[in-house]
Amino acid sequence: MTALQRLFKFHGGVKPAYNKEASTGLPIAVAPTSTRLVIPLHQSIGGMPRPMVAAGERVLKGQRIGGADGNVSSAVHASTSGTVVAVEMRLMPHTSGLSALCVVIEPDGRDEWIPRQPFDFRSATPTQTRDYLRDAGVVGLGGAVFPSYLKLNPGKQGKLDTLVLNGAECEPFITCDDLLMRERAATILDGAAIMREMLAAGQVLIGIEDNKPEAIAAMEIAARAANAAAREDAFKVVSVPTRYPAGGAKQLMRVLTGIEVPHGKRSTDYGLQCFNVGTAYAIYEAIALGQPLISRIVTVAGNVGKARNYEVLLGTPMRDIIALCGPLPDSDRVIMGGPMMGLLMPDDSVPVVKAANCVLVGSKKLFPPPPPEMPCIRCGECAKACPSDLQPFEMYWFSRAKIFGKAQEYNLFDCIECGCCAYVCPSRIPLVDYYRFAKSEIWARETEKEAADVARERYEFRLLREEREKQEKAAKLAAKTAAGREKAAVALAEAEKPAVTPEQDAKKALIAAALERARAQKEQAHPENVSNLTPEQQAEIAAIEARRAEIREMAKPHLRQDD
Ligand code: SF4
Ligand code: SF4
Repeated sequence: MTALQRLFKFHGGVKPAYNKEASTGLPIAVAPTSTRLVIPLHQSIGGMPRPMVAAGERVLKGQRIGGADGNVSSAVHASTSGTVVAVEMRLMPHTSGLSALCVVIEPDGRDEWIPRQPFDFRSATPTQTRDYLRDAGVVGLGGAVFPSYLKLNPGKQGKLDTLVLNGAECEPFITCDDLLMRERAATILDGAAIMREMLAAGQVLIGIEDNKPEAIAAMEIAARAANAAAREDAFKVVSVPTRYPAGGAKQLMRVLTGIEVPHGKRSTDYGLQCFNVGTAYAIYEAIALGQPLISRIVTVAGNVGKARNYEVLLGTPMRDIIALCGPLPDSDRVIMGGPMMGLLMPDDSVPVVKAANCVLVGSKKLFPPPPPEMPCIRCGECAKACPSDLQPFEMYWFSRAKIFGKAQEYNLFDCIECGCCAYVCPSRIPLVDYYRFAKSEIWARETEKEAADVARERYEFRLLREEREKQEKAAKLAAKTAAGREKAAVALAEAEKPAVTPEQDAKKALIAAALERARAQKEQAHPENVSNLTPEQQAEIAAIEARRAEIREMAKPHLRQDD
């Protein structure tokens, strides 16, 4: 019995033909190792890993060959043991047909692992565990390839209400998660238990579309065991209605909890975090077994005789796994992913990467060319189908007219490129192509603008520095000139002083002698009022002096010693 959980609806969505039966008839098989593995260094969102090996080196299975670079990046590893024959630019599994740096390995057939040991995350700090997972190369395996270590953070509040495990797998043809859940349910939940502990999450809701009854049954058995181990009812399998794109993280969180995470906000702010079931499996392998991410389950389907899921070493050329399924003679294209959101490959030699959940072989019969594009009739069907609540026809109009600012005003970057709008458009307008074009143009312009800003800042800084140096030079020169002028003025004044003659010296001496005489006379002079006194006056003065002396004698005892 699936858990009784109140379900919520998300806006829009479509019900395409699912075509999942063809690849679910057989269990997952291990794809043979190819004669050459081409492992792109850039396999996740974020910075490109630095190469850690050179041509000629021997590498072991699981050895790190690309080190994570920057805050958002994830390591890559050798998928088997062998010799690095080149580190060079190779064609990428991308519609653009561009090349990127790859490590080319010639397997030695021994498949020799690096020493592996479990990582004791309970004794490690959260940062150490996240660093470990970054170096183990674990990324989201639902197709988004976002580095998982960045999502294993409970956010500000330090805990979460709900960990959502995404087993919805809503894209047509793709069944890799379905098969993984059927065959390895217990391991997925062991990984989920590790994530739950790291995120301090309350419940774990496992959302699976109701068109996968076997997967639901297998996960329920595993959930009962996990609940028994945790001694609580934390793990719940929830069957969700089949409606594309129920497997979008936002849509699934909305269906399971009713919470709509606004654009630009983190789901952890709302007590939620969502991981694909394949990612939970990879986290278990990394933490419990010490095995980095070197392989993934890939659905090979479409125009092939025997569609199937394979466990494929990363770096395996797509043509090698297509060959295992018997491609039909009229095959004319390879798509990585499903028909709704997948990317057309430049050819079938490109390697399987972490994002490759499906290798879909196409033909004109399977995917007939769309009828010619007609003008938009503003019927509004695209807006009704959009799960992101956007106005697709407005975004189309502005993208087509290259008025990118306006397209952004209509929240172009909220578009998840699900293709629902194009699927329902009666005018058969390839709407998503217009959005991808507009997004890439905006990114290119942003990059150019950033580069131009950096160049302008550098130029302005150089001008500023040159101006400052010029001013400093001028100030130094002015100071030097002023000092020189002062020195010259002093020298000139000295030079212009009149010379002293012997006559002038004699005159000075005479003046000084006269002044000295006047001073001596002044000292010898008596006061006018006591000179030429009569004898009576002198007797009177003597009497006065005698009285004063008498009074002084009488006052002596009353005076202090120091008076
Ligand atoms: S569905 Fe197509 S025709 Fe209708 S409004 Fe949208 S873009 Fe225009
Ligand atoms: S592709 Fe974008 S605009 Fe179209 S339905 Fe999906 S989210 Fe909406």
